[in-house]
Parts: sequence; C-alpha cells; structure tokens
Amino acid sequence: MEKITRRTLACLFISLLLTLGVGLFVFRFFSDGGHWVSFAANDHIYEDGVLESGTVTDRRGNLLARAEYGGWTYSDDYSVRVATLHAVGDAEGRIGTGAISAIADKLSGYNMITGTRTLFGGERRLYMTLDAELCARAYESIQGLNGCIGLYNYKNGEILCSVSAPSFDPWYPPEIAEGDTSFDGIYIDRLLSSTFIPGSTMKIVTCAAAYDTIDGILQRDFYCDGSVDFDGHEVTCPYEHGDLILQSALTSSCNGVFGSLAVEMGPEVMRSYVEKCGLTTSYSIDGIKTRASTFDFDTEDGFLAWSGVGQGFDQVNPCSMMILCGAVANGGRSAVPHLISKITTGDGLRVSLYYNHSTDRLLQAETAAYLRQAMLDNVTYGYGDYYFPELNVGAKTGTAQSDNSSENNAWFVGFCADEEHPYAFVVYLEGGGAGSGMALDVASYLLASALELGY
Ligand SMILES: [Zn+2]
Repeated sequence: MEKITRRTLACLFISLLLTLGVGLFVFRFFSDGGHWVSFAANDHIYEDGVLESGTVTDRRGNLLARAEYGGWTYSDDYSVRVATLHAVGDAEGRIGTGAISAIADKLSGYNMITGTRTLFGGERRLYMTLDAELCARAYESIQGLNGCIGLYNYKNGEILCSVSAPSFDPWYPPEIAEGDTSFDGIYIDRLLSSTFIPGSTMKIVTCAAAYDTIDGILQRDFYCDGSVDFDGHEVTCPYEHGDLILQSALTSSCNGVFGSLAVEMGPEVMRSYVEKCGLTTSYSIDGIKTRASTFDFDTEDGFLAWSGVGQGFDQVNPCSMMILCGAVANGGRSAVPHLISKITTGDGLRVSLYYNHSTDRLLQAETAAYLRQAMLDNVTYGYGDYYFPELNVGAKTGTAQSDNSSENNAWFVGFCADEEHPYAFVVYLEGGGAGSGMALDVASYLLASALELGY
C-alpha cells in the first residue's frame, strides 16, 4: 500500500513538472516566438545573417529598403538613405534598433499559427510613419554635425521625422579598423538610445515641480544679480537678469532662479518630478525600448542647483523630452510614439494591428496649461515668432556644457499648439553652440518643411 502511495505521489510530481514545463513553453512561444524566428542563425529567413525577405517604405510608399537577391537595396536618393538609416536599420544588423533588425519577425511574415510559411502572400511590406523627404531635409540642415532630430504627432503618435547623426550610406557601410574611434557611436540611434546633458530644457521639469509644490510661487518676486552661491559652489547666469517672476525666469532661462528652486524643493521632489514627467521611463516604440534618462540629486546643494538647471549629473533621452513637450501641449498626456504605420502582404492585405495609446499622466492639466503658455511666450517674446510663420509654436532652448569639446551642445525642444498641426519636436546638436542659434534654425526649417509637405 505504501509503495503504491509513493508511486502515485511520484507520478503526480512528474505530471506537475510536465504541465509546468508545457505552460512555460506556451507562454514563451507567445511572448518570444517572434524573437526566436528572427534569430540571425535561422536559415529559413536569413542567408549569411542577412534577412531574406521584406520591403520597408516611408508613409507614402517610397522605398527605403528591400530584400533582393540575397542582399538589401535601398532608396536611390543618397540623402534619404543616410537620413533614415538609424530608423530603417542596416542589412548586417549592426543598428539593433533599426526596423530591419528590431522588427525582423514581422518583416519575415512570421505569425504564431503558420510560422514563417505564411498563408497570406509571402513578402511583407512595412510602411513606416516617417516621411522620407522630411527626414532628408532635416539631415541636410544639420550640415554634418552630430546629434538627432525628432518630430511626432502628439495626438496619434506617428513619428514623421527621426534622424540621427553621424550616419553612413547603407550601400557602402564603413570599414572600421580596430582602434579607430572616428566612427564611435555611428550605430546608435541618438534619438531613441542615447542620453545627453539637457541644459536648460530641464527647466521645464523644475518649473513644473515648483508650480505644483511651492505655495504662492506665481506671486513670488525673484531678483537675479548674475550668480548665487551654495556653500562655495557658484551658480551663474550669463548676465544679471534683474527682477523676475517664475514665467520671465523661464523665458530668460535664469540659472539662479531655477537652481535655487531645485535646492528649495530638495532631492526627493526633483526625483519624483523627473519620474512623473516620464524622463526616467523607457518607452516601448513598436517594441523598441528607448533609453531611460538618469539623474543624481543626492548631492551637495551646489550640484543639486546645477541639476535643476540641466547641468551636472543630468542625462536626458531626447525622445523622452519630445514626448514631454507633447504632453505640455496636450493637457498633460501625449501619445506614445510609434514608427510602424502598417504592415501588408505583397498583395496589399493589411496584417498589422495598432492601437493609439497615450502615456501616463506626465503633468497635471493645470501645470501643462501653465507651461504651454509660458513656452508659447518664450517664442513670442524671446526667440521670435518670425521663426515659425503660420504656426503657434512653444519652445525651450538648452545649451549644455560639453565634457570633451570647447563647443557647447545645443537643444531646441517644443511643440506646435495648432489643432491641425499637433507636433512635438526635439533638435539636439553636438557642438551646435547656443540653443538659440543653429538648433533654433534647424527647428524652424523642420516645421516649415513639414507644413510644405502637407503635414
Ligand atoms: Zn539669472
């Protein structure tokens, strides 16, 4: 009897293990099946590590890349090839976040039921949300500088422009010798996968925190005499800003005011606001994870003050800053960006589903309304309306000190508040000098081009 009980228990134990194992396999099959299929050693869909099938186009159907004769062909326009490289990816898969690599399973026609031997007409056609011409113009406008440019619709999430430099022509990938550092970072999409010192664009966050947490902040009078001392650490402005209120401090980008506010609010509040504002979020863009921004506020007051004005230990991801600008324009939430417009079979049958979804609440509605007006006023009274004719643009400049160059890095971020043109944008230029210089010119040209192309 005892023997039978023991055997029964052993059988039960083995069948439990079996059930768990099958359960785990089914779960992994559903969650990771696409990745298993798109593993580069799978010779059903790859030849010598190069994906064998699929076409990638821009939103209008202009060719960006196509698998052909065991390799890939690209747009016949050089500027389009170079400008869209990081979003589209390269045949060798060195740009891991490019569509060819990151969405290889969808391009191969994989689905869970029939695998890659699809029932519906072999080749897949992936339409990206990008406009190839807009990307090419954006790339040309930065005149060989490194950096990134993004423009997206904060209501439906479509990324119209995504450019990262340095770039290269995918038809002639560079041969990089060992130890050659001149191509450092060339495979990284700076919009999605990098972080940079944000400069004064960070004041959007510090301002939101002060607006929400300091009683009577709108009635407070500030005076800037050009520098504030925090236990021996001086936070300086380029000149004396004189009498200010919160909004004029933002327009004149006063380091003294925002540095002092960061110290007054303390590390806890600053930490909670970079989180609330979505900067430390890693967003999923069609499954491609953006790099989260990082901060360190647990430090001496002098460093905390510099963190509040976007220097020091702040490292911000450009895409997350663009999303925050969308939320400022859009009542506190913004659509999560996406890069895939649709996927069809060779016969034009749509096989992709997409649902438009929004971020968590990044700003209270009232805070968003305040920042929206303040950033609109920045353009009207600070940078100049004439940069954005026919558009209602709100923006913030940033000038970030560079560790390894005497030139500063420039940011220009913002949004268009018009119902018909609901766009948020980011321009980041390494060695671009002041944010109100070339980065502003690039943003101006970007929005004018978007309008001219019918967006
Ligand atoms: Zn000042």
